[in-house]
Amino acid sequence: MKDLVIDLEVEKNEILKRYRALLRACKSTLEKGDKRMIRKAFDMALESHSDMRRKSGEPYIYHPIAVAQIAAEEIGLGTTSIVCALLHDVVEDTDVTLDDIEREFGKKVAKIIDGLTKISGVFDTNSSLQAENFRKMLLTLADDVRVILIKLADRLHNMRTMEFMPRDKQLKLSSETVYLYAPLAHRLGLYAIKSELEDLSMKYMERETYQFIKNKLNEKKAEREKFIRDFSEPVKKIVEGQGLVADVFGRPKSIHSIWNKMKKKAIPFEEVYDLFAIRIILDSTPENEKADCWKAYSIVTDLYRPNPDRLRDWISSPKANGYESLHTTVMGPRGQWVEVQIRTKRMNEIAEKGFAAHWKYKESSTDSGLDLWVQKVRDLLKNPESNALDFLDDFKMNLFSDEIFIFTPKGALIQLPLNATALDFAFEIHTDVGASCIGAKVNHKLVPLSYKLQNGDQVEIITSSKQVPKEDWLNFVVTAKAKAKIKSSLKEEKRRIAETGKEILERKLKSLKITYNSENIHKLSYYFKLPSTLDLFFEVAKGTIDMKDLKEYQASEKVIENKPQDKIEAEQVQSLVRTLKAKDADMLLIGEDMQKIDYKLANCCNPIPGDDVFGFVTVSDGIKIHRTNCPNAAKLMANYGYRVVKAKWTNQQELAFLTGLRITGIDEVGLINQLTTVISHDFKVNIRSITVDSDNGIFEGTVMIYVNDTHHLDNLTKRLKMIKGISTVTRFDSIEKAS
Ligand code: MN
Repeated sequence: MKDLVIDLEVEKNEILKRYRALLRACKSTLEKGDKRMIRKAFDMALESHSDMRRKSGEPYIYHPIAVAQIAAEEIGLGTTSIVCALLHDVVEDTDVTLDDIEREFGKKVAKIIDGLTKISGVFDTNSSLQAENFRKMLLTLADDVRVILIKLADRLHNMRTMEFMPRDKQLKLSSETVYLYAPLAHRLGLYAIKSELEDLSMKYMERETYQFIKNKLNEKKAEREKFIRDFSEPVKKIVEGQGLVADVFGRPKSIHSIWNKMKKKAIPFEEVYDLFAIRIILDSTPENEKADCWKAYSIVTDLYRPNPDRLRDWISSPKANGYESLHTTVMGPRGQWVEVQIRTKRMNEIAEKGFAAHWKYKESSTDSGLDLWVQKVRDLLKNPESNALDFLDDFKMNLFSDEIFIFTPKGALIQLPLNATALDFAFEIHTDVGASCIGAKVNHKLVPLSYKLQNGDQVEIITSSKQVPKEDWLNFVVTAKAKAKIKSSLKEEKRRIAETGKEILERKLKSLKITYNSENIHKLSYYFKLPSTLDLFFEVAKGTIDMKDLKEYQASEKVIENKPQDKIEAEQVQSLVRTLKAKDADMLLIGEDMQKIDYKLANCCNPIPGDDVFGFVTVSDGIKIHRTNCPNAAKLMANYGYRVVKAKWTNQQELAFLTGLRITGIDEVGLINQLTTVISHDFKVNIRSITVDSDNGIFEGTVMIYVNDTHHLDNLTKRLKMIKGISTVTRFDSIEKAS
């Protein structure tokens, strides 16, 4: 900190301002005498932390006030918890003792503070001690769940104010947070806190990705908000018309959950369609709330078509953590799936604040899921057979369903998807470690590479400089990273082997008096039914193709040109170019010259009249017409400039050219009929083929048609887009790809 000028008077006012804001936040739960208690706790905290400052330079007291405010406002806790939150760091960091606390605030508060003091610093040691402390933390929790709730508030505030911490501390806090605190918040039904904890951890652990997604979200913000308005307004109008009081709004997904989706489905940001959900919060009475929610459901699904597979009714049977809500996914006005969550204010409060909110509504919660959970934790802890580590594993298994956490020998945490193997772990550490991995020690026991890791395993990778990636590794790795690395090094290896194969082949062909040139090499690959010349060289190197095979090939080919191929090529090209020049134009007029000059339209880009094109003189196939934006154009022009001829279309209309359109939209009755009517009746265009895929109401089709030119095609595209239900119509570049 440089030149920090502290005005104590200003600070004193700020502290009081924050304290008053805290009081306002807990106003609804205050009873007689509560205010006095909170004031007493505040005074004690203020006094004992008076000489301390946070890393940011701010007075330390800001922290306990903020933690108390989170406990009151975001978790919905009452006076005892607010008192404890204000005092949570006092015993640990100052001269105040537990006895002092008990004397001033009673046994209950002292017990919670004791729990909070014990569990801080839980993670400062090695993993087995971690587990032991974690067990203690839960023992305390079993006594009073408020300990864990205040601890969560404490962690949330520390995560929110972490920018002044050193990088290593940021990383440590972040990994603990995703590892234990976020799942704990999830288990307790504190969804808002869980998502914020995950987002904050990601902000520090994956800075670039976090920023990337954040920027992407900002770019499309206005568009998204408009969509939400367009979607919500009719819903709100009808819901209110039916006498219900409702709040309808869009709820953005957290950056962390978007990132998870991108990873899980291996899709780019652009393909994550559910960047937000629509939430309908109803003001209802306890006896009507179920009926009201279904009424709202019926209104929404009258307006927008629901996906029958995506209805979730957590009102009739709430989740174990108390979550109640009605979820459906409907087709929005622009053919986009949108998740809609319907619930009452009470249900929403439980969804956001978890069980603490339950207590507000239910005085006795003997049958609540939380008690069941606490009971389960108690039973687990009482079981003398399970040692601390086993217990931690069991506990984690319950918290995570699709990801596992693995320890390095030094105790660092690595997050992997479920079913990840020792080899995945090795590649996660480093590409070189993965590539040279020969085995692993899991919890000090030797295991093979394909060993499936379990949550909490400690893994040490064994490497050898002699090891190289093997084809069969692809059968058991699950992470995209490991797969990509293995594939690329297999390719590398293949290329290396093929290189020697090429030399061998050259020698063999020479002894058979077959010219070694690209045409013959291609003919050979074709003859041996190999996908590429690389494969040909590879097979030769491996010895699968030997002299005998080559002789058989030679016999099958009756005449083998012995004349150097380049010479033939040069002659042919020259004669073709001469023919063109003889017409005293260096421009090939496609259409007019059709009879005189042999040319074909390249099927890599399928040009149609109107496209910018050029001609490319080939040896065996005459002139090929490519689009200037053909994916192969740059390569052809750069390497064979002398074979390129200018070309343009003449104004002939009688010819038809094959092209393809990809059409997406919402599958409505009669859509295909309308589509074909427009194409063949209105536009008199011949359809060669039509394929349609319909998935959950989303229509995706490709149509191969014969058009005259780009103008013709553009008009058709425009007209097709006007058909109700169709959202996109795009021409595709390559017909090869479509088939
Ligand atoms: Mn604290």
